[in-house]
Amino acid sequence: MPICIECRYPVKTLYTEYSGADDKSSGHGVRLTVCKNCGRFCDKYVEHDYVVLFIDLVLIKPQVYRHLLHNTLMREHDQFDPSIMRLGILFLLFDVYLTWARIEKQTSSSASMDEPSKRNFLLLAQQPIVFQYIFFLILCALSTLAFHLSIRILSSSPYSPLILFGLIPRYPRPNSVSTALLVSSSTKLFPILMVIWDYDVPAAARSLGWAVVANNVEALKILLGCGYGTAAILASVGAISRWMVGRGVLWCVGLDGVDPVGDSGVAPDGKALWALVELGREWGGRLGMG
Ligand SMILES: [Zn+2]
Repeated sequence: MPICIECRYPVKTLYTEYSGADDKSSGHGVRLTVCKNCGRFCDKYVEHDYVVLFIDLVLIKPQVYRHLLHNTLMREHDQFDPSIMRLGILFLLFDVYLTWARIEKQTSSSASMDEPSKRNFLLLAQQPIVFQYIFFLILCALSTLAFHLSIRILSSSPYSPLILFGLIPRYPRPNSVSTALLVSSSTKLFPILMVIWDYDVPAAARSLGWAVVANNVEALKILLGCGYGTAAILASVGAISRWMVGRGVLWCVGLDGVDPVGDSGVAPDGKALWALVELGREWGGRLGMG
């Protein structure tokens, strides 16, 4: 059943279509339902096009997430919407390209790598291009799979520790969780612009990494109805699993000095933030003593 995206009140229909009265001033024969609970339009996005949806998605407006997750993309029996499958494939291909470019850059800058890893990467770079492509495709597919599976298990499996400890109620629709994660990763499409202009802007790459994380957290919070803390735990576990699987695959081919996320920004920022917290604690302790 659809919901009002402003107040989550369940409604029967989001709009009524009427024929006959072909009055141009009242839209195209569609009237949006007004919510009985809050008095606003139940779902204004029914009338908006994809550009507006995308912009509001990037701006992390909760209403647009409710519209997509509850009113449009939710299918009966937890099936994937075909457009979500396409989006997933698009993201995977993007990911292959960006990971490839990133790892190539990492291996060309000599400081961060040990000799055997560099030799192995040169070996990989001498293989036919199709072989290289398939390698990066497998790397990205397995990492993405780890990201989705870990969050799906945590939110939907009856054995998930978060559910056993009562932090979140069990959410029985794992495919909807994946849908939420995919939709909220739309910000990932931006780096392609940076490929066109100038990719060497660490600040931009960094803010994009964080924007994706913030979007994922917001989408999980809205879908599962949990707090920010729990959503952040889920997103972090997903990110750690993805990183570990990526690292594992690279280790298998002898590239253990290569970081699969590298300069995407979130990992070093996390470390910096932690250092700041430690510093704050130290200073707090000193002030307390003095
Ligand atoms: Zn309402």
